[in-house]
Amino acid sequence: RAKTEGKGTYRFFEAAMGAQIRERRSIEHDLRGAIANNELSLAYQPQAQVETGEVNGFEVLLRWNHPARGNVPPALFIPIAEESGLILKLGEWVMREACREAATWMRPLTIAVNVSALQLTSDGFVEFIEATLGETKLPSHRLEIEITETALVRDPNRALHSLQRLKAIGVNIAMDDFGTGYSSLSNLRAFPFDKIKIDRSFIQAVHANPQAAAIVRAVLGLGRGLGLPVIAEGVETAEELRFLGLEGCAEAQGYLFGRPAPIKEFVPLISANVVTLPQPHVKAARN
Ligand code: C2E
Ligand code: MG
Ligand code: MG
Ligand code: MG
Repeated sequence: RAKTEGKGTYRFFEAAMGAQIRERRSIEHDLRGAIANNELSLAYQPQAQVETGEVNGFEVLLRWNHPARGNVPPALFIPIAEESGLILKLGEWVMREACREAATWMRPLTIAVNVSALQLTSDGFVEFIEATLGETKLPSHRLEIEITETALVRDPNRALHSLQRLKAIGVNIAMDDFGTGYSSLSNLRAFPFDKIKIDRSFIQAVHANPQAAAIVRAVLGLGRGLGLPVIAEGVETAEELRFLGLEGCAEAQGYLFGRPAPIKEFVPLISANVVTLPQPHVKAARN
């Protein structure tokens, strides 16, 4: 009996896996045409000073509006783009659009762009960045690339070489999703990072879970010790922001300050004299 049951389960998994593979192929196929079909766009999310709410810059996040599926989450299509190599073309598109956009701003805000392992270690990546900065006339210090530790594991020597060359031309480098994945502290020393981004999962657990709070404190201490600024991602509540302010975190990003949105929604903010978000900030809460 156990044998037949096992067989049934196996067939079930086989069928499910078949469907999953077809689904991935279909997404990969459609993604191939997404740039030409104008289905891609960029969402911008503000990064702000914890104490004042002043905006330092934006992270750019890729959006795909599929004609039949609607908005496909990056968590679904980015891994497929990475495995298929499509991320190289998509990544170039994102980088060009983002730099072009940022170069038009009235204020010298930064633009943070996510870069995958495959991009970072691909031939000509640094030259591509140089060319893009040249074409768009965006000063290199206004570009920040966000790299996860997974990107370093793939081919550490090539990754290091690219990062060193990018740093030499003035591009900033942030370690994304810090605390998840490999999180080898030696990566902070071995690679030329300019900033640490604490992963959203720790920020969101800060009040429910003392371990998460301890980890956030420890990362902030690490940042101080290494002289690296720390930004908290996924800040949704005033309480989380208050905690971060009290613990000495200078910068934050999350729904509290603004959801990722088309840049037109932020244009009034960017062209204003003082770019401050209206959210309750920490100074008031402190006293
Ligand atoms: P990430 O780089 O860690 O980006 C932050 C993610 O957290 C974004 O998800 C953003 O929408 C979300 N987020 C920001 N604030 C909050 C918050 O307060 N609460 C919650 N619940 N979520 C928040 P998104 O846009 O779905 O992107 C997911 C991931 O996909 C990104 O994580 C990044 O790894 C990847 N990705 C997105 N765009 C690109 C791209 O252009 N190139 C590459 N290589 N990867 C990208
Ligand atoms: Mg990121
Ligand atoms: Mg992140
Ligand atoms: Mg993340």
